Amino acid sequence: MQSRKELRARSIFFLGALIVSLPILAELTGRDRVRVDLGIPDLPGYATLLGDFHTHTVFSDGLVWPTVRVDEAWREGFDVLSITDHLEYLPHKEDMNIRFNRPYALALPMAREMRMELIRGAEITKKMPPGHLNAIFLRDVDPIFNEDYLQSARAAAAQGAFIFWNHPDFPGNRREGKIPWHEEHTTLLSEGLLHGIEVANGRDYYPEAHQWCLDKGLTMLGNSDIHNALDLDYAPMQGDRRPATLVFAEDRNQQGIKDALVAHRTAVWSGDNIYGAEQFLVPLFEGATQVVTPDLAIRGRGRVSVQIANSSVIPFTLQRVGNPAGLSVPEEIVLAAKGTSVFSVRGTEGAQPGNRDVILRYRATNLYLTPEDHPVVEIRLNVEFQPGQTR
Ligand SMILES: [Zn+2]
Ligand SMILES: [Zn+2]
Repeated sequence: MQSRKELRARSIFFLGALIVSLPILAELTGRDRVRVDLGIPDLPGYATLLGDFHTHTVFSDGLVWPTVRVDEAWREGFDVLSITDHLEYLPHKEDMNIRFNRPYALALPMAREMRMELIRGAEITKKMPPGHLNAIFLRDVDPIFNEDYLQSARAAAAQGAFIFWNHPDFPGNRREGKIPWHEEHTTLLSEGLLHGIEVANGRDYYPEAHQWCLDKGLTMLGNSDIHNALDLDYAPMQGDRRPATLVFAEDRNQQGIKDALVAHRTAVWSGDNIYGAEQFLVPLFEGATQVVTPDLAIRGRGRVSVQIANSSVIPFTLQRVGNPAGLSVPEEIVLAAKGTSVFSVRGTEGAQPGNRDVILRYRATNLYLTPEDHPVVEIRLNVEFQPGQTR
């Protein structure tokens, strides 16, 4: 038997526990405060980090507070974020006490809490040419503000900044349908003040910028340039995602990220496409996909199913390069995001009986090595070719 006193002590304890746990419960059940698993694999020797190096807040022409940027990026599976408010365009300055280092300082505690890398940055905002330049890995934003774009870039470089040209297709920059490269960009490049270009910004992709990165040895970046609350421009939980820079880093820290950017170890993810070098895109495909049914037995001209799992949120569209000996394979295969896809292969007439390794070669048409070329990927099977008439 419990005494009345014991019962009362117990109910007070439970009531107390409930009150203490209420905020925790509220946080855990908060509808969207969950980080998505994008299933983008690390590569041999490199961690694959998801970065957005171009975002805005109320400290320039953005519409959200700096901590919101961290929260959004964390939920969407990002590892690295840079807030890059404009230095020269400050439409909220009547209402805000603008100081260039404040967005970083305000967002940093949240970034630390969420285990995200926050990189101090700014957008040097000049008319075209040279247009807008982002400087990231700054130590202090104040000294880089300058009327002259070259002085601004030099001050950023003096701090060891990584500098890239934003959205080269800025309205009004096209000449006869093409994005021009200007003398000012040659000047920046020859002075060592230009290290990369946005190949994707928001929902746009610029083939000219992609080609410049290849021709001039510049790093490819894909960034959101988000000004709104992210959910007003994208529906990430429905798979409508902002673009990202995939960073292949030896170390998961600021230095590792900077080293990767300087060494051009990036790829750009925009929509369902990825732009980058073969040495990154092929292992990315291989890390994300797995043949679920690698061992097959085919009698004569019989048909069997092949299942391939794709652990990433990126679907892969594959175009046949050729039929391997003894097999007829589909011309096109789509490996759906986050799922297992199935397709059929058939034995062909006169296939030699026996057990053989067979490689299916496909061109991955949503992966881009250049604005026109795609890498060839391999699907490896082991087939027991059995004699017979089954068709
Ligand atoms: Zn801009
Ligand atoms: Zn911007």
